Amino acid sequence: MNQVVGNLTEPVFRPPSEWNSLLIAITNGCTHRCTFCSMYRTKKFSIREDVEEIKREIDQAQLLYGGRVRKLFFEDGNAFTVKPELLAEVTEYARSVHPNLNKVSAYAHAKDIVKKSDEELALLAKAGFTMVYVGVESGDDDVLKAVRKGTCQEEFVEAAHKCHRAGIAWSGIFLLGLAGNDSEKSQKHALESAKLINLMAPADPIEWYVSPLTLEIAPGSDMWNQEQNGEFESGSFTQILKELYTMIEHTDDKLKHCVFNTNHVSNYLSLKGELGRDKQSFLKTIEAALNDPRSRQYDY
Ligand code: SF4
Repeated sequence: MNQVVGNLTEPVFRPPSEWNSLLIAITNGCTHRCTFCSMYRTKKFSIREDVEEIKREIDQAQLLYGGRVRKLFFEDGNAFTVKPELLAEVTEYARSVHPNLNKVSAYAHAKDIVKKSDEELALLAKAGFTMVYVGVESGDDDVLKAVRKGTCQEEFVEAAHKCHRAGIAWSGIFLLGLAGNDSEKSQKHALESAKLINLMAPADPIEWYVSPLTLEIAPGSDMWNQEQNGEFESGSFTQILKELYTMIEHTDDKLKHCVFNTNHVSNYLSLKGELGRDKQSFLKTIEAALNDPRSRQYDY
């Protein structure tokens, strides 16, 4: 269960792995309107600039939870629109108030990571900011354009390497099914995503994360309307698993320290391990699921 201090505006979202984190708002809403996403549609984007107020909330969490705060996640979307000095100041303050804090993270958009200099990212890392969750969705620029992601493969590569260099862990979230039910487009989405994963690999032996989710079209998103109008059709179970297979198959066998998992509830199959090391076992599991659809873990 999350640790909260009553400072959040609903609806609130966070990555599954932040289920037990202290949630502190630093932005409200999101800067983008990707077609498949309905997460922050009811919120007008803004940045919280009152550092003292945020610090008071961090203090309040100390009174409520004492030494039990081990992880902090900054809400809402795209915390990297916040000035790096401000984000660093709040992070450093949280570290001083919560001595057992060992992870500080947020969602970030690739464009806003790229805009930051290496020095600014190093400042954040030095302050104790440890991980960014980046909605990559696809390595295919055509898909990224179609869903209005507002960035491209090249920018993801640059953003990932900037984070690797700064010592901020990179967690990239991909979205299976985003190319719709056209098998050719679906395979291109998978191949370009594999290419992007290979290009994002850090030169140094540091842990980084890749997590594919499966598209769930939510009411309130533009894609919901596109689906209602017949402009978008979702891929089948088989097609989604073939996408996952192709994506993994075309990743470099030599990838290291890339923690890979598909254990999000939206996925048909739960895989967990390391790309490179566990590649062949992942492929075997997908093959078995393709041959036996009853092995799916979840159906829409
Ligand atoms: S997918 Fe991410 S960047 Fe796009 S609108 Fe949703 S929260 Fe914002």
